[in-house]
Amino acid sequence: MPNINPTIPHPANPMANDGRLKIALQKSGRLSEMSFRLLEKAGISLTKSRDQLLCKAHNFPLDVFLVRDDDIPAFLATNVCQVGILGQNVLLEKKALSAKKYGVLDEVLTLAFGRCRLSIATPTGFSYENISSLNGKTIATSYRGLLAAYLQERGVDAEIVTMEGAVEVAPRTHLAEAICDLVSTGNTLVSNGLKEQDTILQSQAVLIKNRIKDQDLKVIYEKMLSRIRAVLRADNSRYIMLNSPIAALDAIKAVLPGSSSPTVMPLQGREDMVAIHAVCEEEVFWPTMEELQRSGASSILVVPIEKMLN
Ligand code: ATP
Ligand code: ZN
Repeated sequence: MPNINPTIPHPANPMANDGRLKIALQKSGRLSEMSFRLLEKAGISLTKSRDQLLCKAHNFPLDVFLVRDDDIPAFLATNVCQVGILGQNVLLEKKALSAKKYGVLDEVLTLAFGRCRLSIATPTGFSYENISSLNGKTIATSYRGLLAAYLQERGVDAEIVTMEGAVEVAPRTHLAEAICDLVSTGNTLVSNGLKEQDTILQSQAVLIKNRIKDQDLKVIYEKMLSRIRAVLRADNSRYIMLNSPIAALDAIKAVLPGSSSPTVMPLQGREDMVAIHAVCEEEVFWPTMEELQRSGASSILVVPIEKMLN
């Protein structure tokens, strides 16, 4: 449970509805910087308070609670906050442990950062064929709920040892014979003499919400969501400009990635050429640019988009 004293007077009392939406973010860790950056890109400026628990946006009706990522689901389940950003791994683990308590939490948007996977790993000397090789073994993890469900679905009977951190040292210290932990590059596993065997879950950061009953807060939430959606679309989009022979127009339009209706403009002094401008809702890679060039395009320019509202 979040350590919040409900007797603290307004506005520090987060239970009081002061007409401001409350979002829970990881205070410090792998998700913090990107979570803050996302709000900033959505035009929400934050001033950090001295107590470091609460930050207030001064140009948007939003308050930010800075907490441990593991506490974020509880902040939403108790409606201290209505929205949050955390890894799918944490959200799904909490739901696996208590579907009743966390059933009110919905994943709204995937945010394309904090990517990792929850995997089973064994010491390199362990003879592992498939998940059944873990029958009768001991597995250390911080994700008891997800691991238990995964093993149960596959009829594997193993003992689970819950650890809060440093799970990767469990086999070396004979606490467990295998582990189930988060992996991104895999370097930590390798340096601990472990081999990744099975992936239970692919994860990334997500925006989550509770049932937001208050109409005013719902309106603020919708506005924030629409801005965040716009940021994500702009991040994924590129603005492309090029010159094209009129004869090659259709061929070039067909190559432009993720763009439905490009703008075609005359080029002064060139009867046979036009300029094409288009928003491509995906990354424009070198092979695509080369294909455009082969189709007759010249002066190809690809630029990032800062903001986009449709
Ligand atoms: P806190 O103090 O908030 O509890 P933490 O130590 O639990 O922090 P971090 O290590 O900062 O958490 O990781 C936060 C989230 O980042 C993870 O829950 C996961 O979703 C994501 N993540 C991405 N890559 C990795 C990785 N290699 N190892 C662990 N988490 C990762
Ligand atoms: Zn944590």
